[in-house]
Amino acid sequence: MPYLNYYSKVEPKVWIRRILLPEKASEEEQEFRRYFQRRTVPMAQIAVLIGFALVSGVCVLDWLLMPVEFSIPVIKLRAVTMLGVLAIVFALSLARPADPRLPYAFMAAGAIVGSATVVVGAIAAMSGTQFVVWGTIFTTFYVYLVLGLRFRQATIAGWPVFLTFLAVGIMFDAPVSKMAYGTLFLLFANLIGMYACFLFELDSRELFHKKKLLNDLARSDGLTGIDNRRSFDEHLDKVWKQARRESQSVAILLIDIDYFKLYNDCYGHRPGDNVIQAVADSLATHEHRPLDRVARYGGEEFVVVLYGPTEQYVRDYASRIVAEVAALEIEHKASDAANVVTVSVGAALAWPHEVERSEQVIRGADDALYQSKAMGRNRSTFYSLDEPVRLAHARA
Ligand code: GH3
Ligand code: MG
Ligand code: MG
Repeated sequence: MPYLNYYSKVEPKVWIRRILLPEKASEEEQEFRRYFQRRTVPMAQIAVLIGFALVSGVCVLDWLLMPVEFSIPVIKLRAVTMLGVLAIVFALSLARPADPRLPYAFMAAGAIVGSATVVVGAIAAMSGTQFVVWGTIFTTFYVYLVLGLRFRQATIAGWPVFLTFLAVGIMFDAPVSKMAYGTLFLLFANLIGMYACFLFELDSRELFHKKKLLNDLARSDGLTGIDNRRSFDEHLDKVWKQARRESQSVAILLIDIDYFKLYNDCYGHRPGDNVIQAVADSLATHEHRPLDRVARYGGEEFVVVLYGPTEQYVRDYASRIVAEVAALEIEHKASDAANVVTVSVGAALAWPHEVERSEQVIRGADDALYQSKAMGRNRSTFYSLDEPVRLAHARA
């Protein structure tokens, strides 16, 4: 059953490895990253606006408090390296919120704005204002906590800010005491930031898996693990619309286990469940084209939808189902159709741009199934909605 596989994958150990170590992103990992991006881009956009307001506020203070010969170049530098970069990344996030490269743009923006805070702050400090420690610590938290970066991206953006701080401190010959305290605080700002970012990503991964699990459980049948009726209805609706747009055919096959009530009576309900699972497994092996789907329609009935098949393909497909279930050779002494478990199949084919509603093709398949039952079971019947002639298939 597919959801059991998920349980085996929801090990925190696996997530921690994925958070910490670079590895080639699997399909599932890419899905998580898309989910994470959807979740964090709005947060990062608001953070960018706040950053924009903050840097603007700092520029106003520069203008009010610094001598003009300092304030003008400092404000210009802030405008280019901080406001400019924030504006670019904000525009990118509006234009392409789902682009997988967007988080890297945020990462680069974090590193640039953070390093610029240090450099511009150091230049500003020459006019006698505070040295850059507090601004740098603030930016470090900003990079780790609100830019919506995954752990590794945040780490790549955060540490260059720290290194820039050290380099600038040495270049500008900052007082040793200030550098010592600054280095210590900044070091821990990075460590705390990494820790918080790690926990957030771990939490997001858990949430993602639980949502996926819940979604899968809601869509799949508890006994067989294949799609349930609800999921089938949704899929048929989608396929029907697509077939109408693309002038393609759609086939529905209804599959019903023969004399199944007698099987339960003879062998018991649990063995009956095993039969349902075995038939579902047999049907599921044929689900190879992307829009084809096998589902449990209810009780001991299954349904298959095929996208764009020819009449011959549907006929062959239906015969193959009948033959393959019989070939499972599950003993069924009480059956009048054979001495093994068999199914009857009703198949109907329609062109959605000619036939109005998908219910019509289901009704066609149901009529065909009824025909298969009436003709003695263990067989398939084909029914074309364009040519309503019922053609009983030879016994498989
Ligand atoms: P026919 O050949 O005409 O299809 O006869 P049938 O006995 O298969 O048809 P009917 O619809 O009368 O009986 C279906 C039976 O399937 C009745 C019900 O007990 C059984 N059934 C439905 N769901 C399950 C299930 O989940 N597990 C088991 N073991 N039996 C089920
Ligand atoms: Mg039935
Ligand atoms: Mg039946």
